[in-house]
Amino acid sequence: MSNIKFYQGENLPLEMHKVSIVQKLNLIPVEDRVKAIQEAGSNTFLLRNRDVFLDMLTDSGVNAMSDRQLAAMMVADDSYAGSETYYRLESKIKEIFGKDFFLPAHQGRACENIISQVFIKPGSVIPMNYHFTTTKSHITVNGGRVEEVFMDEALNIKSNHPFKGNIDIDKLVALIEEVGADNIPFIRMEAGTNLIGGQPFSLENMRQVRKVCDEYGTMLVLDASLLQDNLYFIKVREESCRDMSIREITREISDLSDIIYFSARKLGAARGGGICTSRPELADSMREMVPLYEGFLTYGGMSVREMEAISVGLEETMDMNVIDQGPQFIAHMVKELEQRGIPVVTPPGGLGCHVDAMEFVDHIPQEQYPAGALTAAIYIAGGIRGMERGTMSEQRDEDGNETLSNMELVRLALPRRVFTLSQVQYAVDRISWLYENRRLIEGLTFVEEPKVLRFFFGRLAPVSDWQIKLAQKFREDFGDSL
Ligand SMILES: *Cc1c(COP(=O)(O)O)cnc(C)c1O
Repeated sequence: MSNIKFYQGENLPLEMHKVSIVQKLNLIPVEDRVKAIQEAGSNTFLLRNRDVFLDMLTDSGVNAMSDRQLAAMMVADDSYAGSETYYRLESKIKEIFGKDFFLPAHQGRACENIISQVFIKPGSVIPMNYHFTTTKSHITVNGGRVEEVFMDEALNIKSNHPFKGNIDIDKLVALIEEVGADNIPFIRMEAGTNLIGGQPFSLENMRQVRKVCDEYGTMLVLDASLLQDNLYFIKVREESCRDMSIREITREISDLSDIIYFSARKLGAARGGGICTSRPELADSMREMVPLYEGFLTYGGMSVREMEAISVGLEETMDMNVIDQGPQFIAHMVKELEQRGIPVVTPPGGLGCHVDAMEFVDHIPQEQYPAGALTAAIYIAGGIRGMERGTMSEQRDEDGNETLSNMELVRLALPRRVFTLSQVQYAVDRISWLYENRRLIEGLTFVEEPKVLRFFFGRLAPVSDWQIKLAQKFREDFGDSL
């Protein structure tokens, strides 16, 4: 992508930080990896860390923290009520987002629980660019329905559209006309749309969505969990925003939103979450849910140390030298995989690199979870833990039928500032070996299938002994190497 800025002429991303604390990693032999993945029911969520070499499962709560964040954690003011730490976070939120009211929550889905319980009634329809797993569950549990109004381009794996996370305004208006504005408590926009490959929306698109909200008298709720990457992409890909600072872009996005919620496991690089708004009546309607589900209003289930880290993390998010590391590493990984003919989602997004399992293992039917099978195979090939983002991550409909996903992706998350470029290169090499041997990969079938969020703790089995055969081929090709 020519419009992504690299510091070097050589197309290599350059880190603007040094590493001062490291953690030892293990790489167990391929035979042990097969054992580990089988014990985990072929579900990478159930692997134990000691068996994982590169943990690319998620960017949630595992981004590297800065020296300043760690220092701030040491001066946290611990008390049940009225802690100074809370007021520091509240004022940082006010400074960055310009929102007067802040409700703390222990993580992003806790915010979704509060917002869904307060605003969604049976029959409510929530239009959005794309759903996220926990979002959809909270909306459905409260009797609402998710309607995605993404642009057609959003699902094209091979694309050079810079903003695949945009809402299609015509589809949005048609939907509102069809179901009636009274049934739409809010429109939800997700920054850095997680499930379609960390793809951003443009500031211009958000302005248009706001106009629609004003016309029909409905609210705009922003899921800002992945805002950090979205800010970067607006800055480098949206011509008219080139001269805006990250702070200015953030403020305009916030001004367009009635409510913002976020997972601070991502935004702010710590662990926690929160909801903010500048409308007192909205804050009032949600406030009592905080002590009910989270904890007192000045901690909301978070430790004060994490709150201090979030305050600093939010400030650091306003620094282009901090937020460009993730997207630049991802762009590098996507380019390297593409050069080897491996199908990946383009243009590169935030959060991680997304391998297209629908094409990689096009011989596996969707009912046998191609993305799940490929995720297990990538672990066997390199001790690399990715996450299935396809049919396994959906849930069955009321009649028990599979909801086949629009996309079958393996997400290889690059937690921010955690991996080195040589580790990324290792992942590229192992995945390209796997691509040459892709016909050895076969499907999976559930042996234990929870009804809700089955991808988290469901257990599956390979439909044949393909995992063992894959390890044997690995041994033939790599000799004694791990
Ligand atoms: C992670 C995430 C959430 C949920 O946040 P948690 O802190 O994991 O509960 C919600 N929305 C998006 C877009 C996310 O990426």
